Amino acid sequence: MSDTRVLFAASEVYPFAKSGGLADVAYSLPRALNETYDVDVIMPLYQFIDREVFCIEAVGETFDIMMGERAYPITLYICKYKNMTYRFVYTPMLCDRAFLYGPSQGGYADNDIRFALFNYAILEILKREPYVFVHLNDWQTALLPLLLENEPEIKTKSLFTIHNLAYQGIFEKKALARLGIDEKYFHMDCLEFYGQVNFMKAGIAYADRVTTVSPTYAKEILTPEFGCGLEGFLQYHSAKLIGIVNGIDTEQFSPSSDKILVSPYKDLRGKEANKSAFLKEIKMKEPQRPLMIFIGRFTWQKGLEILIDALPEMALMECNIVVLGDGEAKYHDALEVLAKKHDNIYLESGYNEALSHRMYAASDFFLMPSLFEPCGLAQMIAMHYGSMPIVRSVGGLADTVHDHAVFDRKSQKGYGIVFEKADHHALLSAVTNALELYGTKTQYNLIVKHNMLCDFSWRESGEMYIKEYKKLKEEGYRG
Ligand code: ADP
Repeated sequence: MSDTRVLFAASEVYPFAKSGGLADVAYSLPRALNETYDVDVIMPLYQFIDREVFCIEAVGETFDIMMGERAYPITLYICKYKNMTYRFVYTPMLCDRAFLYGPSQGGYADNDIRFALFNYAILEILKREPYVFVHLNDWQTALLPLLLENEPEIKTKSLFTIHNLAYQGIFEKKALARLGIDEKYFHMDCLEFYGQVNFMKAGIAYADRVTTVSPTYAKEILTPEFGCGLEGFLQYHSAKLIGIVNGIDTEQFSPSSDKILVSPYKDLRGKEANKSAFLKEIKMKEPQRPLMIFIGRFTWQKGLEILIDALPEMALMECNIVVLGDGEAKYHDALEVLAKKHDNIYLESGYNEALSHRMYAASDFFLMPSLFEPCGLAQMIAMHYGSMPIVRSVGGLADTVHDHAVFDRKSQKGYGIVFEKADHHALLSAVTNALELYGTKTQYNLIVKHNMLCDFSWRESGEMYIKEYKKLKEEGYRG
């Protein structure tokens, strides 16, 4: 058994496939860990990933995995990208789809089979290769600790990270047979959840360590308000649960070397050229006004209802507003009506990585009125690009953004406008405060300059994960 090899598994990894922050973390955290461990990343080889561009090659012959009564052909692939090894699982059932998860994130009906196959393929690799740890992420990889229960010869220990408890991988009971999982696991201490099968529960029950992506969210998920029905189960397993705040990759998101920008910049003054180019690009009038942006998935979680209720009044204020996102049609439609009605609201629908960078660089404020937020990366990217976050004090937002009223230039913390209540009145009053602060210029500039110099990298959090790996090793190998 190698003492240093780690297999890091996720359903999406930047730059191969990305729908949100998980992909960014699955790109950047393994890089931070790779200085101490020898980390390989593994993900599904979705059909839309360009094998030529990334020089992705097959390793070994195609083999069959038996799951339930059926055999599924699996081919393993590999590539090197920026000095790290990426491994891929290809099987038509999992990978030959137009989208990662399907019908605008509600999921394809057979996502249980798709992602169970991913877990079985990882298990096959662990049988053949001596990884000391497998680091799993979210429900798509949560079955693996259960599968390991039946493989005493595999000594690999598992660490399971919850990025978002709202997505648990819940399927009908009849899925058990097609997933080849014994009925003995269908009880309330394991897979069973109100008569259905819950992948996330398997990860929580059987992983050697469970982490989530901020200390505040780690506490919140033990309560009925944020526990999504798993609060009791998580309380039971809380001795192995810890919260470690995410970092951002400061190379991927670096205003001074960001090739997507019209004019990369090192300090606040450098933003001006980006702002005027962007506002020209979208033909926004009165470009001297402060620019507020929203970038995120159009879901209830991100506070879309609060934003939509606040926008008519915000449109009457001295500011411009740009919204970029993808997701539920009802939010998209409501935003489209608002953008048509008001000259100072601009909407761009869809997923657009390049545009998101230009928006971070151009903006003065970043809106994040989330109802819950496990960690959130966008607010850290915004601060790094010199855009002040306006956030609800919840989850990782509470851990990473501190209110400007307690600004301390000697601290290493990030600052913004923080509000408590989950309603549009609270957001409107935060926006009013933000515009007042912007009006003072000196204090606004001081805080934004401070934020740009803060360290939002993985340096500290990477160390905390390494500490957990070390503790797991001290606790002995499985079996
Ligand atoms: P979550 O993981 O809940 O979606 P995070 O704040 O952790 O939210 O991460 C979101 C990441 O996805 C950020 O890098 C953000 O810039 C990016 N992102 C979200 N929506 C879009 C979009 N429509 N176009 C481009 N980037 C997006």
